[in-house]
Amino acid sequence: MFAWPEANKDFVSGVLAPGQCGHAWFFAFADNEILLRFDANGDFQPMDLTDEPLIEKLSKKKHFMGMYGDTACFAVEVQRDEEHQFGGLRSIFGKTDNLMLAMAGRAQQICEWYRSHQFCGKCGAKAVEQSNDRAMYCQRCEMYSYPRLSPSIIVLVHRGEKVLLARNHRFPEGMYSTLAGFVEPGESIEETVAREVKEEVGVKVHNLEYLGSQPWPFPNSLMLGFHAEYESGDIRLQDDEIADARWFPIDDLPTIPGEIAISRWLIDDYLHRQGL
Ligand SMILES: [Zn+2]
Repeated sequence: MFAWPEANKDFVSGVLAPGQCGHAWFFAFADNEILLRFDANGDFQPMDLTDEPLIEKLSKKKHFMGMYGDTACFAVEVQRDEEHQFGGLRSIFGKTDNLMLAMAGRAQQICEWYRSHQFCGKCGAKAVEQSNDRAMYCQRCEMYSYPRLSPSIIVLVHRGEKVLLARNHRFPEGMYSTLAGFVEPGESIEETVAREVKEEVGVKVHNLEYLGSQPWPFPNSLMLGFHAEYESGDIRLQDDEIADARWFPIDDLPTIPGEIAISRWLIDDYLHRQGL
């Protein structure tokens, strides 16, 4: 049921680029926007070896990410130019497969990490890139800074033939989704699920089941997906975040997120288990 965990299975991560490569993909970013190029079918295409002169011309910093089969994969921070269009990663949603999305998301996060760790966060000295590890290093206070990831939970709360879906103030009109939130320091994932559900909609849950995860590079979340069974309490909204939350019958759901999102997989998986 879950497509995403398999997306990277043939990818071997690395930081040292091979001397020669027969094939290459370059995921080019200017700030947090990807260079958009689409083939005749409208599918996203990363730059390849035939584009290398252009990449070299625009490149500010090139990061080797690893090998996908015999294809060397690079994240490249580039200068914006007039001839190419750039857009947020969401511009390629629905226009590529999960592998390319995973690669592009990885590339964006590596570029963003490098751009935002030029100086030590502790003493302010210039940081230097490690050659054998994805880390920036401060020689003065010996601190390493690795790409930042923010674990967060996303949970479908269920109660037999009903599921609890909510919308926040930023959602498109009529769209409802599962509940989500960031893990706090000192918390177990299970505690995060219970706390977020209680905070956002006021109900208690139990019998958690972990279903899978999805990297979500906006900017650096790792979403851990759960089902949780309703235990007790009435819906009470956290006003500043949640605009509405309701129990929906599983055969009469509102507009829900598209298939790219783990929230959708969590919902679809529950419907499937209920025989729908
Ligand atoms: Zn320092």
